[in-house]
Amino acid sequence: MPELPEVEIISRGLHTQLKDRVIASVQPLDAGCLSGTSRSFERKVLGRRVLGVHRRAKLVIVDLDADLHLAFHLKMTGKLLFAQPGEHGVDKHTRLGIHFADRTRLFFHDLRKFGYCRLLESADFENWNFYAELGPEPLQMSFQEFREVFQKRKGRIKALLLDQRRIAGIGNIYADESLHLAGIHPARSCCDIPDHQLQKLFDALQVVLKKAIDSGGSSFSDYVNSLGRPGAYQDFFQVYGRRGLECRCCESDLACEKVAGRSSVYCPCCQPIK
Ligand SMILES: [Zn+2]
Repeated sequence: MPELPEVEIISRGLHTQLKDRVIASVQPLDAGCLSGTSRSFERKVLGRRVLGVHRRAKLVIVDLDADLHLAFHLKMTGKLLFAQPGEHGVDKHTRLGIHFADRTRLFFHDLRKFGYCRLLESADFENWNFYAELGPEPLQMSFQEFREVFQKRKGRIKALLLDQRRIAGIGNIYADESLHLAGIHPARSCCDIPDHQLQKLFDALQVVLKKAIDSGGSSFSDYVNSLGRPGAYQDFFQVYGRRGLECRCCESDLACEKVAGRSSVYCPCCQPIK
């Protein structure tokens, strides 16, 4: 699933590619990805101009004039691809096409069909429980705020990192990478982690997320940006996807354990449980 860095890259790309374009028609190939009917979707967005594109948590949000917003959740396999006039866009996994007046297009592809596109007015966001409950953005919070989220919490640190209501945008890749950089075992109980280690985790998240954004995201499975190009952060993975391989820090064999229902790769030596 694309996480914060990948969704950030897609949003930044689309901001440049879509800004000021006017929606001329809609191609709802699979209306199941929309929150309402394709007819009402089309009626509302036709003629609307794109004001900009931004990210919140793992959502790509396209702001339109007339106070309308398209919120895309890419889930497991969703992709948003921009196409120039004449460029091939539709394939068998395309669920939605948005055609602009200058003949450029935006396509929403989703192999596993868990992703969606919601059309909202500004006031609708607070009534959308998923959105209203999202935790703070890790790159826009202070250590003080981070500590308030995690300090004295019951539960395992990895589970809390993945909980979008505690902190937004982190998934399996960046949880495992940050915990390794901070030297914290993924199954450690949050309330046992002292302040100086929470500070290390906070710093690790900043370093890992920023470097991943600078690298264009991670293309471990099928992630590509809005121009169809892969990222490069997978080349820097210390633990994710490296079960049984040597730790790049201490040469111990990396272990894997299920934490919060997710496979978690860690170094037993660099990330002791106690
Ligand atoms: Zn190690």
